Amino acid sequence: MTHLLHRSIKARLPVAVGGKGIEIFDQEGRTYIDASGGAAVSCLGHSHPDVLAALHDQLDRIAYAHTSFFTTDVAERLADRLAADAPEGLGHVYLVSGGSEAIEAALKMARQYFVEKGEPQRRHIIARRQSYHGNTLGALAAGGNEWRRAQFKPLLIETHHIDPCYAYRLQKPGESDEAYAVRAAQALEDKIVELGADQVIAFVAETVVGATAGALPPVADYLKRIRTICDRYGVLLILDEVMCGMGRTGTLHACEQEGVAPDLMTIAKGLGGGYQPIGAVLLSDRIFDAFASGSGFFQHGHTYMGHPMAAAAALAVQEVIRRDDLLQNVRAMGEHLSRRLNDRFGNHHNVGDIRGRGLFQAIELVTDRSTKAPFDPALKLHARIKQEAMGNGLMVYPMGGTIDGRSGDHVLIAPPFIAASRDIDAIVERLGDAVDAAIEDARSG
Ligand code: PMP
Repeated sequence: MTHLLHRSIKARLPVAVGGKGIEIFDQEGRTYIDASGGAAVSCLGHSHPDVLAALHDQLDRIAYAHTSFFTTDVAERLADRLAADAPEGLGHVYLVSGGSEAIEAALKMARQYFVEKGEPQRRHIIARRQSYHGNTLGALAAGGNEWRRAQFKPLLIETHHIDPCYAYRLQKPGESDEAYAVRAAQALEDKIVELGADQVIAFVAETVVGATAGALPPVADYLKRIRTICDRYGVLLILDEVMCGMGRTGTLHACEQEGVAPDLMTIAKGLGGGYQPIGAVLLSDRIFDAFASGSGFFQHGHTYMGHPMAAAAALAVQEVIRRDDLLQNVRAMGEHLSRRLNDRFGNHHNVGDIRGRGLFQAIELVTDRSTKAPFDPALKLHARIKQEAMGNGLMVYPMGGTIDGRSGDHVLIAPPFIAASRDIDAIVERLGDAVDAAIEDARSG
């Protein structure tokens, strides 16, 4: 009997006792390739010596100082680094402890911005179906993952959801990418007009969708059109790059590839690479100026925000990525991964879609490629794949489709940025075996 409440109460989990590079070791002496970075977290792999050294060094100086009394050199330096590398205009940094906290802060910043500007009537948040923004109540309200939200609905603030940009499922046969981008973005304009343009605070979206779709990039120009629509109505654009950001797609920020800069951007996971819990909101000069010339205060705060140990980890992780030119490796290995996935699954009867960017890629599973019909959710194909993969010494991140039946189970592959091509080959080989075994297992009941 364990006193620790696990996510899945009856699950019997292996005990992780060590990690090195892209591998994790358990108490039984088994080795697992960490091909999902946990959940797209461990971008430098495990036990990176430079990060460990930076953490020891910070621990020798000071582990904690409350941010209402002190700032620290390490938090200031991290903010400088993030601001210097941020998309244009995002020159200010708010440090928190994770992705959900970052989203909560971004939503409140967006609301306070309009209060400072004398538009307190603005109260609506628009987001997308099949999205995930975190598990705290505000973030859960913004998210559009029905499975995660359903039982908590009575506690959630009112939010409004439009369809995601999901070419594989929602683009019509014969519809060009351009026409689809126009139609998908039009849904936002229609929703803003329906709610009243002067009533809407912000639109929130993941630049590349993660947890609810594996790794789902938008079609070309969709986000540019979204940016234009937000500007037309004075609505703020919040891009959630908690999962897809900090180099995972091959550029530091995924939105760089879209040619779009948001007003607020959330980052976490790869920011600290799992060495410490850390997240951040990058905010625009416009929002910062409204606070600075208004109340002079952001009405928010957490005990562990700007934590020196977390800042030290993130600074070290980001310095190693830059020094070792790891984004170049993400792009090269991303291409290799894409080729290997296409070799292995391109003609697979049960793989409908292979998608993603950089080292953020996914396969979506279907019972039949021609009908795109998902597997029966009761079969829990994703859980079977996870179990088979772990049995094969492989960590990938499989998730179920959404309960409205509009998408299939999918598997996210998000290995550390230090992966080599032989690692990618081993990952795809083991994944192939796990997928086939899981489907066989599901069919035989
Ligand atoms: N936003 C996105 C896009 C995420 O993928 C996640 C976590 N999977 C979160 C927010 C929440 O982050 P955390 O689990 O660190 O609270």
